[in-house]
Amino acid sequence: MADKYLGESIKKLGFGLMRLPMIGDEVDIEQVKQMVDVYMSKGFTYFDTAYVYAGGKSERALGEAVVKRYPRDSFVCASKLPLWDLKDRESMEAIFQESLDRASLTYYDFYLLHSMGKEAAQKAEEFGAWQFLQDLKAQGRIRHMGFSFHDKPEVLDDILTKHPEAEFVQLQINYADWESENVQSRACYEVARKHQKPVIIMEPVKGGSLATMPEEIQKVFKAAEPEMSVPSWAVRFAASLEGLVTVLSGMSSLEQLNDNVSYMEHFQPLTAEERGVIDRAVEILKSIPTIPCTGCKYCVDGCPQKINIPGIFSTMNNFSLYNNRAGAQNSYGRVTREGGKASDCLQCGNCEAHCPQHIQIIETLKQAAAIFEQ
Ligand code: SF4
Ligand code: SF4
Repeated sequence: MADKYLGESIKKLGFGLMRLPMIGDEVDIEQVKQMVDVYMSKGFTYFDTAYVYAGGKSERALGEAVVKRYPRDSFVCASKLPLWDLKDRESMEAIFQESLDRASLTYYDFYLLHSMGKEAAQKAEEFGAWQFLQDLKAQGRIRHMGFSFHDKPEVLDDILTKHPEAEFVQLQINYADWESENVQSRACYEVARKHQKPVIIMEPVKGGSLATMPEEIQKVFKAAEPEMSVPSWAVRFAASLEGLVTVLSGMSSLEQLNDNVSYMEHFQPLTAEERGVIDRAVEILKSIPTIPCTGCKYCVDGCPQKINIPGIFSTMNNFSLYNNRAGAQNSYGRVTREGGKASDCLQCGNCEAHCPQHIQIIETLKQAAAIFEQ
């Protein structure tokens, strides 16, 4: 029996509906139905979607593959409210109702403020989003309220202090970011536990990056457990933590799903020896040379081309470490969406004069352009 949190017993593998299999621009719904059938047949029950996933096609896929095919009390599902797109507080109701309608639901079990951080938290206050969620709960249109989070631990502490009504937190946790300066998985997890909030883990495989590790690291895992897949180490690391509602895995194919359920059906936490294997993998990761950017952003303000220099460097580092071309290309698109691309650099040198790490920014941006803009 799974541990019980918020009155729910949920097995520790949640079906993330963010990266569904596609045929062209449409969700491959027949494959999704097959995946759902295997997943449900093994006793798993948690489905995670969001208003913005696949432009609404993810919530519709939940409706087609799950809601219309299984009794409502045999699964639980979550969706999320995207505050960043909202123009006014009235839109919250329209978006929530659309999320219900797309999935043919009358209620969501879990409903989250999506991607909270310092700025989104301010907008939530301005729009009365917390009260909106409490009202939905009182009306029986959601059963549990919480938020997903992407910012520093002190911001999380602040939100949880101000909003004890949040019942759970969804955090980005994986072994590579457990101690990293940028994501600070461990520190965020500890803040949530300090506030006695159960945690839903997202991105345990770091958007697929921990499946495409350098060969040297893959060998470490294969030597320890030849039968186990490389991503299984990442999912089991996350699922071994205390106080979890579940661990989400964005599943894109039946093959991936079969692999996940094979070791999560009768989940066993990592042993001390297995944790040692992960520690070795992390040590190797740390030894791979990367751009020593700390993300301080001192270079950004003076850039006439508004190039997100630390964002581009973080993308390059992830690409060197995990060799995940598709993930890195997406990330490059994201970090250059609102500012200049690496190739827009005018070589004025304003940035280099401010970099405390003395990084050769101009040269490194040329490399980024060669990798991501060809
Ligand atoms: S050298 Fe390039 S990146 Fe640096 S401030 Fe000038 S335009 Fe921006
Ligand atoms: S100033 Fe240097 S270390 Fe700081 S964000 Fe820019 S490139 Fe990175």
